[in-house]
Amino acid sequence: MLAITNCTLVMKDHYIPNATILTENGKIVDFGKKLTIPDGAEILDAQGLFVGPGLIDIHTHADGDTYFHDDPVKCSDTLLRHGVTSVLPALFYSMNKQEHLDAIKKYRSAIAEGKCQNIIGVYMEGPYLNPDFGCDKEKNVWKDAIVEKDYAEVVEAAKGFAKVWCVAPEREGILDFVKYVKKEIPEIVFSVAHSEATPEQIEALMPYGLKLGTHHTNATGTLENYPEVRGVCVDETVNYNNDIYAELICDSMGVHVHPYMIRLVKKIKGQDKIILIADSFVADGPPLPGLEEAFDINFDWGGDIAGSKLTLDIACHNMMIHTGGSVCDVFKYASTNPARLLSLCDRGEIAKGNRADLVMVDYEFNVKHVILGGEQIN
Ligand SMILES: [Zn+2]
Repeated sequence: MLAITNCTLVMKDHYIPNATILTENGKIVDFGKKLTIPDGAEILDAQGLFVGPGLIDIHTHADGDTYFHDDPVKCSDTLLRHGVTSVLPALFYSMNKQEHLDAIKKYRSAIAEGKCQNIIGVYMEGPYLNPDFGCDKEKNVWKDAIVEKDYAEVVEAAKGFAKVWCVAPEREGILDFVKYVKKEIPEIVFSVAHSEATPEQIEALMPYGLKLGTHHTNATGTLENYPEVRGVCVDETVNYNNDIYAELICDSMGVHVHPYMIRLVKKIKGQDKIILIADSFVADGPPLPGLEEAFDINFDWGGDIAGSKLTLDIACHNMMIHTGGSVCDVFKYASTNPARLLSLCDRGEIAKGNRADLVMVDYEFNVKHVILGGEQIN
């Protein structure tokens, strides 16, 4: 048994100061202000730190300098030390069929060998996106017609493992693809991504389980019907529909999403529908003029931003700065909400019987200790 004492517990909408939390056999067994610590319990004095539920990153490709599919063990470990106790490595549109199959196989074997304990599945960022919106217009190998023989093997390999599947709803033939995936993986969550779909095209997929907007306000179209009249497209649809969660990449300079936009999205979507993601990538292009200080984003060689170098703890810190939000708020965006999106009933908040995945942070969200399944990692 582990007893974490002298901590401020971060609950869903409040704190419990001067608290103790007890874990045993990988689960939270009790918590509160006046707990008797059982004899023989190992004690970790939190010295006043906040203790919240382990972070859940549903969308990231890398750990800042290495892709998950190149070294899943290293990436998994780096993220764990940053408090990410559950992660969905993201496969993406520039990977061909074989690369999709290889990556999934690699993750599954690592898990079977007892490694990468925080990998809980994969996030399929593609393959059927709109090549005009941030996904390799020239080289995209998935830009031709959507046919079953191209995707069936990938869907088969992803069964029981893929948790989120991204689509551009305007792609011809997408409905047949969505129905196919839904039949094979009933629990799948669909997300609108790299798209310029109309509200009607997006909402038509909601009955099949579309309830996420991938990196909201990034790589989305505008569909202006008349000059000088703002159109409605992906961002507006995600903002409009209460049932759709919005992913946000929250970098320090507000490059992926302008801080004013972050605050606007927070106001529209409310506390329960924002999901922070790292969307970390690997690219070594030169920084764009004026962004030399942007240490937590990547640039490609074509003069564009190319994902982040974030880990989710840093994104939480940035979110607090950009919105004036609290530690309690950002635990919601980086743990509770992603758990709800994925219907993970055993994590995402501090509750008796939940997994003992815990992260201990200071008031600026600097990670000090991480507990995974009751085991202290750092
Ligand atoms: Zn993307």
